[in-house]
Amino acid sequence: MMPATLPKFPILETAAALGISIDGRQAHCFNAASHSDGKDTNPSLVFFPDSNRYKCFACGVRGDAIDLVRAVRGLRFQEALAWLNAKFPHAAAAGLAFNPQVDSKPPASKAFSVPDERAVEVYAALYAKCYEVAPFTPAGEYLIGRGLDLDLANEYLVGELYNPQEAREALGEKFSIDQIRAAGLVSRAGNFLFARHPLLFFYFNDGYPVYIQGRDITGNATCKELSLSGLCSPVPYNAALIATQPERVCLCEGCIDTLSALQMGYPAVGVPGVRGFRPEWFTNFQGISQIDILFDNDTAGQQAAVELKSLFLQRGQKAKILRPRNVNDMNDLLLSKLHGGEL
Ligand SMILES: [Zn+2]
Repeated sequence: MMPATLPKFPILETAAALGISIDGRQAHCFNAASHSDGKDTNPSLVFFPDSNRYKCFACGVRGDAIDLVRAVRGLRFQEALAWLNAKFPHAAAAGLAFNPQVDSKPPASKAFSVPDERAVEVYAALYAKCYEVAPFTPAGEYLIGRGLDLDLANEYLVGELYNPQEAREALGEKFSIDQIRAAGLVSRAGNFLFARHPLLFFYFNDGYPVYIQGRDITGNATCKELSLSGLCSPVPYNAALIATQPERVCLCEGCIDTLSALQMGYPAVGVPGVRGFRPEWFTNFQGISQIDILFDNDTAGQQAAVELKSLFLQRGQKAKILRPRNVNDMNDLLLSKLHGGEL
């Protein structure tokens, strides 16, 4: 079990142990690749020894020692904690005993990077090539099969590419291949990322599309869901809800589940995958009095839910884990409600 309070690791010493060169309380940002000019000429990363936290005044990354180790080393929470425990045995001993169970899964993203303004330009152009979903379109039929209301899907700006190749060519006329690649839209094999995933979920921030996930609607693709190559989202899915300062927010796993929850009346936002919650998002949730975690009712979902709940608690926020009873996830719950299932 994870303790409710974690050891307090000294932030300056942690940064030094990570090889960050500190001048006074400042350093060059480790996330400089995401700055608008791609560098951090004047050190923007500031450390706060009193609270053992850091913040970059250029890109906004912030967090505590554990977040710093995760971001710089590309480690998962428990791996970062183990690393810190080894480096600072005194701090570890002063905290509660903690026995990390490091699992063998690779971290969600090795390099910490969110799409920059030039990537957002590409996403906006791609969004312009998308159509609304309709009952007669492949993506529309797929969503109807999942019980989703197409008006709701369109309200949340779900997009469909009728012709992915044509969209790719249109992007190529407007942007260089380097810009398209830097926007995460080129697959490892060198193809257009969404060539076989024409149903697109756009993550918006302040009205701009800042992240995209694509979905296979045929069942033939190796991977049913695709995220941008090498990038993580700066905001949860449906971040606009958080901007309204709601009293309650439900955290769902993936866009389909988020839309399913919204359709059932839950005030929902989504994480891109079960491990997709980013440490820099916590500040967005400050002031929300009720946070409900509604991840999948399987081992991976419930483990991630317990971990996330603990991370909220570590930041002084309570979160509750809700499990959709008798079904695996929120989309199943929606389907069973539509089909008159008793839950
Ligand atoms: Zn920065």
